[in-house]
Amino acid sequence: MNDALFKHVRVHYKNMQGYSSAGMEDGKDKGKIYLNANENPYHLPGLEGLNRYPEPQPLALLEAYAQNYGVEYDQVAMTRGADEALVILTKVFCEPHRDQILIAPPTFGMYAVDANSMPCGVVEVPLIKKDGMFFLDKDQVIKKATNPENNIKIVFLCSPNNPTGNSFSHEDIFEICEALEGYCVVVLDETYAEFSENGSMVGDLESTPNLIILRTLSKSYAFAGVRMGCIVCADRDFIDLVKIKVLDAYPLPRLSIEAAFHVLSPQIKEIALENIQKILAQRRRMEKALIEFSNVIHVYPSDANFLLVEMKNAKKFYDFAADHNVILRDFSDKKGTENCLRISIGTPKENDIVLNLLEKFKL
Ligand code: PMP
Repeated sequence: MNDALFKHVRVHYKNMQGYSSAGMEDGKDKGKIYLNANENPYHLPGLEGLNRYPEPQPLALLEAYAQNYGVEYDQVAMTRGADEALVILTKVFCEPHRDQILIAPPTFGMYAVDANSMPCGVVEVPLIKKDGMFFLDKDQVIKKATNPENNIKIVFLCSPNNPTGNSFSHEDIFEICEALEGYCVVVLDETYAEFSENGSMVGDLESTPNLIILRTLSKSYAFAGVRMGCIVCADRDFIDLVKIKVLDAYPLPRLSIEAAFHVLSPQIKEIALENIQKILAQRRRMEKALIEFSNVIHVYPSDANFLLVEMKNAKKFYDFAADHNVILRDFSDKKGTENCLRISIGTPKENDIVLNLLEKFKL
């Protein structure tokens, strides 16, 4: 166990025994009769296998994830989306009523929601807005996270960041991790990494022991409905602790496991990669087209599959689009994203509709 992570794990997780599920002791073997998990012996027509609990973390799928992300299978814990990974990490590191997390808003709302549900505090170090872009306030992040009075256990960084769309430089993230070693862990949410030229920091994990990375199949692999994500880090013992003591007994539905094998197969993966290129081409097109409208003030540079757009009358356009059955995300009343809407990149036809609505809205 590398102390850079383990040092910050809540004491009871270090001491407690995990649940040993029936499936964990023994993989399902067709030659055996299983009367150890109170399963129903009669599967329903066309639903063979679904009467049995799934393997908690199938090795072959861990290997497929590992290959996909360029790590070893035992450096991966599969979760129900990156969302579940966030809950798990908050639970593992943050002592309720005492510890805090640090976030750099505007950023993904679930970090604070998960902390509040513990309940734990949230320290904010807002991004710096300069020249129409958002930057990490690296020095403040380090200062606040190393202040012992703050009891910061996790610094959440999201790159590319939701909702601003930009990536942060690997050098800055690395510097933050280095400065925080011994103080807390850094969770880097790479939900949108496949849409960014910056790529992933997975290759830096071995040299950054207090770094944990989150990945998901939701966006780049068009898999949001299946709920498959993962926690990746250098420390195999930490991954074991998550699998044995923190994850539910049978976290991944059998149908999701089967679907994930399918999506990570070379043929499907190739299509997913082509679709990413289509989304990137549409993002470039939308960036250029949106800024031409007089009521669009600024389109923030994006490394993700969405654009943050500042408008003269954002809320009004949000309502106007909704009245025309186009649902955007309204950030206009949120600190740091005043007068902004977040627009996901859709198909060319869907994007045409957004542009047509903007055209009509002008009139
Ligand atoms: N992190 C970020 C930054 C997100 O935007 C989202 C989804 N909107 C998630 C995590 C959760 O993703 P998943 O679908 O994998 O749970």
